[in-house]
Amino acid sequence: MTFRSGFVALAGRPNVGKSTLANALAGVHVAAVSPRPQTTRRRVTAVVHGEGWQAVLLDLPGFQRPADGLTKRMQTTVDDTLADCDAALMVLNATEAIGAGDRLIAERLRASGLPVILVVNKVDQITPDAIARVVEEASTLVDFRSLHPVSALHGGGVEALRDDLSGLLPEGPPYFPAGVATDQTDEEIAGEIIREAALQRVRDEVPHAVAVQVDAIERARTGRTVRAAIIVETESQKGILVGKGGQMIRHIGQAARHTMARYWGEPVHTDIVVKVRPKWRRDETMLDRLGL
Ligand code: GDP
Ligand code: MG
Repeated sequence: MTFRSGFVALAGRPNVGKSTLANALAGVHVAAVSPRPQTTRRRVTAVVHGEGWQAVLLDLPGFQRPADGLTKRMQTTVDDTLADCDAALMVLNATEAIGAGDRLIAERLRASGLPVILVVNKVDQITPDAIARVVEEASTLVDFRSLHPVSALHGGGVEALRDDLSGLLPEGPPYFPAGVATDQTDEEIAGEIIREAALQRVRDEVPHAVAVQVDAIERARTGRTVRAAIIVETESQKGILVGKGGQMIRHIGQAARHTMARYWGEPVHTDIVVKVRPKWRRDETMLDRLGL
């Protein structure tokens, strides 16, 4: 079976329950409100792992103060984020009337052409009759693929939503290893992405002996440069990772750059070297530096 994966925009007015829903979908608590050490344009809210698929949820910024319209700049930020996504979840609060903010979001989603799942959240707070009314009203907002009444807080409807979400994802690689679901530092995320890109290509030859050390992430107007080392234990493993004429490490860099660029929403350059550290897995200092 082919793996499917994608970036999914999490859209909705403040307080509709986006963070709660992200937690429910991921099945773990992600520190979605913790401030990041650096200001990033993109935020991975959660990585949702399924059987044969993976969805990377991104917060859709720009609707903090829904006014009569979006400024040009806000609209550009929103549209840029959507351009990097494969699908969107639009979240509504079932206990509130649909308002200007919701319509603004719906408008940008329509313009993006992405497949949209409409999520009517907090249905635990209203009667079935009221749910039906909200669903009817919501269905005029955007041409959605499916509509799910859920209670992100109590879990009702979340499993069905998860299943449906997987159906919107295109064929693609797992961008993050299983187990990654949290809000991590950029260095940690970069390390995970590079390691995953390497393992996808050499997992059979070099199963566990690959670690990635991110030495620096440099920011410039033209994008970011990630300087990292892939650490292996033997010269022969190094040979495999570098590949004939450096072909393997180029492919790994290319794949990792692509994922990081979508994640941060800006161009990414990489400078990745392969280093041999015999028995690094038993070396305490090394493990500390790698944060293992
Ligand atoms: P966000 O601003 O869209 O990320 O919204 P949050 O996830 O932070 O949720 C805002 C508030 O709504 C919090 O107090 C949540 O506990 C509450 N909330 C979220 N989902 C539900 C739900 O399904 N039912 C109820 N009753 N409350 C919810
Ligand atoms: Mg939130």
